[in-house]
Amino acid sequence: MQELTEPRDRLLLGPGPSNVNPRVIRAMTMPLMGYLDPTFLKVMDDVTSLLRQAFGTSNELTLAISGTGTSGMEAALVNLLEPGDSVVVGVNGLFGGRLADIATRCGASVTTVSAEWGQALDPAAVEQALADAGQVKLLAVVHVETSTGVVQPLPPLAEAAHRHGALFLVDAVTSLGGVDLRVDEWGIDACYSATQKCVGAPPGLSPITLSPRAVEAISGRSTPVQSFYLDLLHLQRYWITDRTYHHTASMPMIYALREALVMAMEEGLENRQRRHERNAAALRAGLAEFGMRPVPPEGIRASPLTAALVPEGLEEAKVRRALLNEYGIEIGGGFGPLAGKIWRIGLMGESSQASHVLTLLHALETLLAREGVELASGAAVAAAHRSLAEE
Ligand SMILES: *Cc1c(COP(=O)(O)O)cnc(C)c1O
Repeated sequence: MQELTEPRDRLLLGPGPSNVNPRVIRAMTMPLMGYLDPTFLKVMDDVTSLLRQAFGTSNELTLAISGTGTSGMEAALVNLLEPGDSVVVGVNGLFGGRLADIATRCGASVTTVSAEWGQALDPAAVEQALADAGQVKLLAVVHVETSTGVVQPLPPLAEAAHRHGALFLVDAVTSLGGVDLRVDEWGIDACYSATQKCVGAPPGLSPITLSPRAVEAISGRSTPVQSFYLDLLHLQRYWITDRTYHHTASMPMIYALREALVMAMEEGLENRQRRHERNAAALRAGLAEFGMRPVPPEGIRASPLTAALVPEGLEEAKVRRALLNEYGIEIGGGFGPLAGKIWRIGLMGESSQASHVLTLLHALETLLAREGVELASGAAVAAAHRSLAEE
């Protein structure tokens, strides 16, 4: 037998995956069943109804795609877009760029509206792009841009899309289960997420929901959806209507998602959002003592993900490595224009705990002092304590 590498217990405070509650892990060990077993189909029904609650929607087409968040992104675009369709994509970070990339691969004519990394999209600029593009099929944006920690205000963009006859697509990978998200009330036509960020399950499924208008757009396509596996009308037949075979569902992942969603409902979505906000505020209060400020301006800082500028001159990768090797804590570095300049600290789902914030700040204090960063001993942990004691 060759020697195998043993995975380690980690405190996952990066951009995802996040830690998973033992209840969710236990759920994954429930018995396997056939993919059309009537009992398993009922478990799937539980998942669709819990997902509707979590998304804030009554959309019939609500299900979980087998695959990670990117499979939801790919499914939304490959179903809604036909070659030659015109689409406007908001790009203010890595994932907006990925949306534009996939839309281009679908053969669509893509217009991007950019904002600086760390800023939100300007609704006036989006409106202008929609007007200039003529007949637009779709406006696609990211709710919480995990590369920058920006939360994009959605209602003005939804209104702009609808004024121009376009469908409104939202990437909610880092928002579902962590920040306020109201699919129906805000007029979102297509929305996908992932299980491993604020939802609290392992990576492997991508929840998705489509409005009747979006379903109509797919039904009215003149060409078949290029992807068989991600064909949402086929998937709807398996998950919701005819209950006919499409592909073999991953039972353990569906059990995990159901348990994670039950836990979210037990906590209450609003309480859960407040928990994410409270812990993010404590983290930011602590980071401020290291001279680290969040990249996005106040008002558009997403609670599940804090992207903060590292102290000037710090060998940031070395500190992250030490944090992982000595403390077993993962945080993320920056991408693109922010590479080497920021840390991305995720407090998502089960990982959003006050005790984790204190543990991280304590560890960082030791490591930063070792690197010669000037700081008052114990100040960051104390600031986080004060923030947690407020209200
Ligand atoms: C993580 C993430 C994705 C991609 O999800 P995967 O599960 O890595 O495929 C897409 N969009 C956003 C905003 C994300 O944070």
